[in-house]
Amino acid sequence: MAKRDYYEVLGVSKNASLDDIKKAYRKKAIQYHPDKNPGDKEAEEKFKEAAEAYDVLSDEQKRSRYDRFGHAGVGGASQGGFGGGGGMTMEDIFAQFGDLFGGHFSGFGSFGGGKARGGFTTTNRGADLRVKVKVTLKEIATGVEKKIKVGKYVSCAKCHGSGAENDKAYTTCPTCKGQGYITRVSNTLLGQMQTQTICPSCGGAGRAITKKCPECNGEGIVRAEEIIALNIPPGVGEGMQLSMRGKGNAARRGGVNGDLLIVIEEEKHPELIRDENDLIYNLLLTMPQAVLGDSVEVLTVDGKVKVKIEPGTQPGKVLRLRNKGLPSVNSYGTGDLLININVYIPENLSSSEREKIKALASSDNVRPSQSVKDRILNRFRNLVD
Ligand SMILES: [Zn+2]
Ligand SMILES: [Zn+2]
Repeated sequence: MAKRDYYEVLGVSKNASLDDIKKAYRKKAIQYHPDKNPGDKEAEEKFKEAAEAYDVLSDEQKRSRYDRFGHAGVGGASQGGFGGGGGMTMEDIFAQFGDLFGGHFSGFGSFGGGKARGGFTTTNRGADLRVKVKVTLKEIATGVEKKIKVGKYVSCAKCHGSGAENDKAYTTCPTCKGQGYITRVSNTLLGQMQTQTICPSCGGAGRAITKKCPECNGEGIVRAEEIIALNIPPGVGEGMQLSMRGKGNAARRGGVNGDLLIVIEEEKHPELIRDENDLIYNLLLTMPQAVLGDSVEVLTVDGKVKVKIEPGTQPGKVLRLRNKGLPSVNSYGTGDLLININVYIPENLSSSEREKIKALASSDNVRPSQSVKDRILNRFRNLVD
């Protein structure tokens, strides 16, 4: 079920220009176009896959998110919940063709679907809804499901989104004579094509309302609060945006819902610092612990673990606990926990304690040899060992 890499789908390199991407997509779109492959499910899937890849790679922002976070960064998280896997509908794809072939496509002969409402929905879409969601490091480590309450436009229950008072409160749309669309024949790269555009007067419904629904004043939508379950994948980070298709505002008088855009806000952990997928824990040893060695507890994102401190541990040393960091949002690999060692030098000693330190001061053992000095100071050139 894993999604193929978008660059691979279009057969272009990672640094392909927008022009290359357009050309590659145009080739695939013609090759797998459903009109050329009637009834071929595999071709249809390839057609959709290419369209989805083009949708992301042709948009500078989406492309950079994809480059950084993979499919999860553009709403196609493999864990599900976002975008529902496939994502684009045929209407979305044909809406994209305007950009690609320079024409204006609202639907193709074989996809128009007649005058049914919802057949030409690209021009009647609800507004996207944006919410911020706070997540803790612990939630980022495992992924989390969160339920949030959002205020938004939903379809009016009284008129089922139609905006009409009842089934009889209609007359045939005078602009399209009830067809819901206007048909035009044009020449395109794919040959002569019959294109159908949505009727601007009735929005594709084929009928005009004579009596408005009193509940929504003919709009077909009302304000409401809805509880939405968000499935946040592991490894997300501050500012990342996820999208849930169709969970935004409902459209006026029927149509396609907008998307719900979820912006991740990462809550600061009191002790752990995030560095991409690694976590940093600052450990403060006492002087005797650093000199004599000890076994100490350090904090990880899922509780405390014991770590052995070797005798003669230098401040500035970094210990690495493999795979104790955060998972990558792409689902390959997990970061490490870096333990950054500091040593507390006592600030207040009794006079007898000071005498003991003084006695040590004259020992050759408190002075590093040249090779030890090199080893320790070299570490600052290469901080993590
Ligand atoms: Zn209504
Ligand atoms: Zn009409």
